[in-house]
Amino acid sequence: MSTEQKTAETEGAAPQSHAFQAEVARLLHLMVHSVYSNKDIFLRELVSNAADACERLRHAALTDPDLTRDNPDFAIRLSADKAAGRLVVSDNGIGMTREEMIENLGTIARSGTRAFMDKLGEARDGSALIGQFGVGFYSAFMVADRVEVTSRAAGAQDGWRWRSDGLGSFTVEPVAADDPDLPVRGTQVVLHLKEDAAEYAQAGTIERIVRAYSAHVPVPILLAEATPEGDAAEGGDEPKERQLADGSALWTRPKSEIGEDEYREFYGHVSGQFDAPALTLHYRAEGRHEYSVLLFLPSMKPFDLFDPDRKGRVKLYVRRVFIADDVELLPAWLRFVRGIIDSADLPLNLSREMLQHNPVLESIRKGVTNRVLSELQKLSENDAEAYGKLWETFGPVLKEGLYEDFERREKLLGLARFRSDRSGDNGWRSLADYVADMRENQTQIFYATGSGLDAIKASPHLEGFRARGVEVLYLSDPVDAFWVQVAQGFDGKPFQSVTQGAAALDGIPLKTGEASEKPGGEAEGEGADIGLVAAFLKETLGERVSDVRVSARLAESPVCLVAPENGPDRQLEKLMSRQQGAGGGAFAPVLEFNPSHTLLKRLSGALSGPGDRQHLADTALLLFDQALILDGEVPADPVAFARRLSAVMDKGF
Ligand code: ADP
Ligand code: MG
Repeated sequence: MSTEQKTAETEGAAPQSHAFQAEVARLLHLMVHSVYSNKDIFLRELVSNAADACERLRHAALTDPDLTRDNPDFAIRLSADKAAGRLVVSDNGIGMTREEMIENLGTIARSGTRAFMDKLGEARDGSALIGQFGVGFYSAFMVADRVEVTSRAAGAQDGWRWRSDGLGSFTVEPVAADDPDLPVRGTQVVLHLKEDAAEYAQAGTIERIVRAYSAHVPVPILLAEATPEGDAAEGGDEPKERQLADGSALWTRPKSEIGEDEYREFYGHVSGQFDAPALTLHYRAEGRHEYSVLLFLPSMKPFDLFDPDRKGRVKLYVRRVFIADDVELLPAWLRFVRGIIDSADLPLNLSREMLQHNPVLESIRKGVTNRVLSELQKLSENDAEAYGKLWETFGPVLKEGLYEDFERREKLLGLARFRSDRSGDNGWRSLADYVADMRENQTQIFYATGSGLDAIKASPHLEGFRARGVEVLYLSDPVDAFWVQVAQGFDGKPFQSVTQGAAALDGIPLKTGEASEKPGGEAEGEGADIGLVAAFLKETLGERVSDVRVSARLAESPVCLVAPENGPDRQLEKLMSRQQGAGGGAFAPVLEFNPSHTLLKRLSGALSGPGDRQHLADTALLLFDQALILDGEVPADPVAFARRLSAVMDKGF
């Protein structure tokens, strides 16, 4: 082993040693030391890779038939040698060149992997995560202490062998043309099983795993059975092969004949995830265009859900031949959908450019998108609980559609669900629910944006709404600040931020039984001298605010900040000014105060007497900073804030 690991002086027959990329080394450490009980999944990963390799070659051969002329039938072959503790997975797919081996089996290029590694870093025991997400080729090191990959790329003469013990480095060396392990084309993966993984060299175990996880990969799977000793006469020299999977495309079979477990297993293959699909869509479209659809909505968030590239992974097939998995078959706000679309109309030899702007694909995209939405609609009507779960997982992504997809905004608004002061912690409210429960004289749909539910709920802005029994939707996802700007409203009722402009609460009566707890707006006369207080606050706060006024929003808190009449919602303003760098946004907020709050009443009293002006100014500035803090911001000058706070506390003793 140690001689293999040394860097060869010359590039020739001697193996060359390479270090794994740092992320791979971390992942491998986890695999090698995995205590994860379901190690079976490694086989699914290897079989999936073999199937992918066959499908990629099948596609490449469309334009270069020579690639498969000698060996046109694709197959994945498994063979096990119990005595030697070996398991071999081979395919006659596209294979790998030397460079591809180094790149693909030494680094991680998959998007979402970074997120995965971050999660691993957070988790105390990473092994549970292995079971939730496909971790690819490297999972072989859960069961093997040495892995050899021998490959010959389709169309190439030379073959290469990759070897590693999964401990930090791997070697790559050329393979002699007469090496019995060198495939004519494709890849052979040899696992030298760990002692405690010897069961994976048993035909029965292999068969069980393949049936559970890989029965519907679109390439046949054959298992070579060792001829029982003393039975050589019947078996001859050829090892007997048994077919474990026929490689037929699941989506071509009628829906009525497919069991839930079969769908689930196929979902595992196309998604690389290990959860059960939350929703399965299987249908055939016949009309202007003919195509089959087998799509799944996962029940768990894929890793790459919030990757900036927002790429989907639905696979495009043309008459059962895999074409690509990076074509935009669905809008970005449905990027979590997994599965396949198989077109009967497209030509097989589509170029990349043709795939980009293809009218058939456009039409498929439109049809399938609408179908996904109508299935979601159905689920929301028939199983509110399942729909709520789905919304919880993917709502933040679906809401991107509210912003981007003008045509489907109405439909998406109907599907959207919200938390509010009426939903309870785990329930959901639809906009239809909201509108049905509006108070008399209420004309708008009120919402509060913020970076978390707790912060929103605690916001003083909501007090006046609560006192009137007016429902406020809590919008805590980053995307919320954006779509509410462009959505016109729902059912003729416009959306209105509780932090924007003067609150339109006029004419909405207080809830009965709470009339004694008058919110500030109604408290003129008995509270602070409004004119005096407003003028003082305005003068003291200067450019920090664009106006100071009495609030209808407040019931218990002394002050709050709201957006000026024509300015953006406070949350959006914050996002925008963050993007433009420090220094605050262009729209100074309005300070609203509650004249029936004791603090304001005492301020008012002090102002009309000979009070200590410095102390009063400190109080005004502290009130302002306090409102900022409640909005999740930091006082612009923390040093001055601390000094004022100390001064005011000092006075109190
Ligand atoms: P993924 O399959 O998600 O890309 P893997 O870790 O399973 O990630 O595999 C990494 C890469 O190694 C694959 O993308 C592929 O390029 C290459 N690879 C793995 N197995 C094979 C194989 N049997 N034939 C050809 N290439 C393979
Ligand atoms: Mg893989």
